[in-house]
Amino acid sequence: MSQTLFERLISGELPTKVIYQDELVFAFPDINPVAPTHVLVVPKKPIPRIAEAKEEDQVVLGQLLLKAASVAEMLGLEKTGYRLVINNGRDGGETVPHLHCHILGGRTLRWPPG
Ligand code: AMP
Repeated sequence: MSQTLFERLISGELPTKVIYQDELVFAFPDINPVAPTHVLVVPKKPIPRIAEAKEEDQVVLGQLLLKAASVAEMLGLEKTGYRLVINNGRDGGETVPHLHCHILGGRTLRWPPG
């Protein structure tokens, strides 16, 4: 099976700035930021989307959220706040079929989203 776009970033085949990585997750800047801080945190395992995560993915899913919060803190968003977003499927706005958590911050975000 061909590699996902994010697997190619993780392996270094495509360039990015590594913000954080460990054995389970990888964080890098979104190429098309929609907020002053816009970072993606992805599992190294190419789970296509949250709807397809399995029981066996519990540890990696936990790490994804825990590290999203610690990366947000590392980027100085802790005090003002931030939003974590996981888009799933067409109506959710998913465009890359490799699970990812957006960290958005640095401005006041509206609710509900468009
Ligand atoms: P989503 O729409 O939730 O699937 O989010 C996919 C995100 O991946 C979008 O915000 C894109 O801007 C971002 N993206 C696409 N290609 C790259 C890339 N090469 N490096 C960083 N972010 C990317």
